[in-house]
Amino acid sequence: MDKEKILKVLNETLALGRKDIPLGEVADYIPELGKADKNALGIALAGKSGNVYTAGDAESRFTIQSISKVISLCVALESRGYDAVFDRVGMEPSGEAFNSIVELDLVSGKPYNPMINSGALAIVDLLLGKYTFTELLEISRKLCRDDGIRLDERVYRSEMENCSRNRAICWLLKSKGIIENDVDEILKLYTAMCSLSVTACSLANLGLILANDGVDAISGERLLSSSTVRVVKTIMLTCGMYDGSGQFAVEVGLPTKSGIGGGLLSVVDKYLGIGIYGPSLDKKGNCIAGGAMLRRLSSEFGLHIFAP
Ligand code: GLN
Repeated sequence: MDKEKILKVLNETLALGRKDIPLGEVADYIPELGKADKNALGIALAGKSGNVYTAGDAESRFTIQSISKVISLCVALESRGYDAVFDRVGMEPSGEAFNSIVELDLVSGKPYNPMINSGALAIVDLLLGKYTFTELLEISRKLCRDDGIRLDERVYRSEMENCSRNRAICWLLKSKGIIENDVDEILKLYTAMCSLSVTACSLANLGLILANDGVDAISGERLLSSSTVRVVKTIMLTCGMYDGSGQFAVEVGLPTKSGIGGGLLSVVDKYLGIGIYGPSLDKKGNCIAGGAMLRRLSSEFGLHIFAP
């Protein structure tokens, strides 16, 4: 497809997504996030040639939130290994909301997967002491090919002042011996990772690395091992959209991770990374217009992993 055709498709897709914006709400349980422009919407597509195609608000900065769980999981798998990660976190969909606490006091108490808050807090515990925030920021910049990524101090402070639920999750995990470090230190690093300011373009670039087996398609440098990338994409497919993951996998069929700031990171394996920004969210906390846009792109271009 030539550039003009791609841009036409992206703009049509954006127009379709816009129709769903009024059906959603901006998250406001972190007060600073409640200030986002509900009508913002952008999409970016990164292809192996190095070209990034965009439409709408693809350069607007917003906080990565739960999409940082993908980065933390990649780093934990690379540095601590598969066994250390899955000794403390499962790899099953939870069927519960992203910030659910109920299941943690049942059975083993091990978080269901690394894509929900409890699992990500346990992963951050593994990273603490091994990586400083500055090192993780550098890694994030490299994986997203975006040196503009910074800590959004306002969102960070706003979440730190309103994180009783994540604090409760940490204490429960601590009581079960699943996490080891100081609860405050875990919360600070987890929240700082959620407060990285990205754009739809940064997410598309990260998606491309995952689509391209962990290799930066432009420089040729391997940033992540094949095995890490395989595990992460599988968990994104089964758990990346919280308790909406099953339906999303059926309807879209692309490994995707959402964040409460309105971001979506999606992978068209072997071909493309897709990044979306739209802070109007559905009831499960996923970008509502982005869901509609990905459904359209998937069906029109046969992108579903099980497309004939
Ligand atoms: N920082 C947010 C939280 O811990 C991330 C949640 C999300 O993006 N779903 O609640």
